[in-house]
Amino acid sequence: MSKGTINVSVENIFPLIKKFLYSDHEIFLRELISNATDATLKLKHLANIGEANDVAYGNPKIEVKIDKENKTLHIIDEGIGMTKDEVEKYINQIAFSGAEEFIEKYKDKDGEDSGIIGHFGLGFYSSFMVANKVEIITKSFKDEPAAHWVCDGSPNFTLEEADKKEHGTEIILHIAEDETEFLEEGRIRELLVKYNKFMPIPIKFGMKTETLPKPEGAKEDDPAPTKEVDNIINNPNPAWTKQPTELEDKDYKSFYRELYPMQFEEPLFHIHLNVDYPFNLTGILYFPKMTNDLNIQKDKIQLYQNQVFVTDNVEGIVPEFLTMLRGVIDSPDIPLNVSRSYLQADGAVKKISSYITRKVADKLKSLFNDNREDFEKKWNDIKVVIEYGMLTEDKFFDKAQKFALYPTVDGDYFTFDELQEKIKDNQTDKDDKLVVLYASNKDEQHSYIQEAKDKGYEVLLLDSPIVSHLLQKLESSKENISFVRVDSEPVENLIKKDEEQVSKLSDEEKETLKTFLTETVPSEKFTVQLEAMDSNANPFVITEPEFMRRMKEMQQTGGGGMFGMGNMPEM
Ligand code: ADP
Ligand code: MG
Repeated sequence: MSKGTINVSVENIFPLIKKFLYSDHEIFLRELISNATDATLKLKHLANIGEANDVAYGNPKIEVKIDKENKTLHIIDEGIGMTKDEVEKYINQIAFSGAEEFIEKYKDKDGEDSGIIGHFGLGFYSSFMVANKVEIITKSFKDEPAAHWVCDGSPNFTLEEADKKEHGTEIILHIAEDETEFLEEGRIRELLVKYNKFMPIPIKFGMKTETLPKPEGAKEDDPAPTKEVDNIINNPNPAWTKQPTELEDKDYKSFYRELYPMQFEEPLFHIHLNVDYPFNLTGILYFPKMTNDLNIQKDKIQLYQNQVFVTDNVEGIVPEFLTMLRGVIDSPDIPLNVSRSYLQADGAVKKISSYITRKVADKLKSLFNDNREDFEKKWNDIKVVIEYGMLTEDKFFDKAQKFALYPTVDGDYFTFDELQEKIKDNQTDKDDKLVVLYASNKDEQHSYIQEAKDKGYEVLLLDSPIVSHLLQKLESSKENISFVRVDSEPVENLIKKDEEQVSKLSDEEKETLKTFLTETVPSEKFTVQLEAMDSNANPFVITEPEFMRRMKEMQQTGGGGMFGMGNMPEM
């Protein structure tokens, strides 16, 4: 048996690890299972290239076990294992110098970055966040004796030979008094599902009862036979790791249910991401049905690295408008040990972000081209994402010209070009500017809509919460066009008109009405015009100027809440 002192300059590293990572203790399990997975994959690789010939590789699994009586948690793999020398090297030297570097980096930060720290590859020593003693029993696949390493949370360790026969590693955590939640089955299962649901090696946690098919000739009320089998908590081959050609629509749908078991609504469509140059990225994004309540739909895309769950907050990695989508992104090229602002400035992340935007735009365009009718049907459920994307990402704005739709109050859908063509002869103002009339609420603006339609004008129905911002953007990007809500100004004032207007009111009636209206309607906010709508029985019309209303709306949506519109473009 050998004893030693881990060579670290911080006198006692473990209380420090614990202190700095107070909010992220749970990630120790992810780290240990990642190591077990790496060790298994390494052996698989060696077997493949013929360097581990005499090792029966079989179907290796990883096992997680709770021993309540002894207050220990065990993580057991059938991987490559370590010799005594390797434990000395990889655990005592490398893992702990990593720990030291980590402490150096974060010791002056009082938790402000803890969200990021949780994404950092903390490694083996993160086990000391929850354990006051850690043991490693490991046997290399090479023909060398097994080793037993014990460390009690001081820099002192012991390392001796052990009699483990099978290659692989068992990590034993003696769970600390104040961390006993990690001895609860429910808590461990929760963590396994959160971080390891799609890891590439099967992970066993306890046993379960499986119902077998009834033998032939069994009577109807004979109970079906059962069998105790390993309870495997993960799916080692999730859909995003496969080629799009291997998958059918139903596979994408069932993967969606696997990702979001509580989500009963089917996604509208999916986008399979798959690149390996100049960065590595796989994933599947889904367009869910959108409601106008945008906040509840954020933070649904899950970020993985090599099938290990990292976070479901992808802010800074995908453009903000796409954070409303759902699905999975897996990339080893996203740096995680950095702050969000650094992340946004990172070259690889920028490329990833614009790749995703492009793929989404391409998919929308092909859906539009392939089946316009279906695209129109979906428009109402996807428009918020598209409109917000047009507003915030110029490249997306350009691409969206091809498929963004402008529905009329009667349920026709035009692209912008089609709309322009449709109204160019009939809806221009005195300066020959194209006037696009729209309503935001069919019921409230009913009589204004009717009035405009009676005159043969097209009225769009634009009712998403960010419409005033979008119109502002459209007006500034297109020459010679203005959007006017039907109740903003009497249409007569906007649109060229030949016929003379004949009054239906007597002068006396007009006078009385005028006095009444000036007394009741605040003139600084609204405009009142008598007999503006001459074709029906309206003796007067009250309007709120487009400009004033739009500013008000933009202040409301721009100020806060929705999207936390921090990076809303200046108008
Ligand atoms: P990293 O995984 O980033 O290399 P860790 O601190 O997690 O850092 O682990 C340090 C090293 O210890 C690993 O690189 C590996 O060589 C060794 N190791 C850890 N766990 C195992 C295991 N279960 N089986 C074999 N080797 C392991
Ligand atoms: Mg590791």
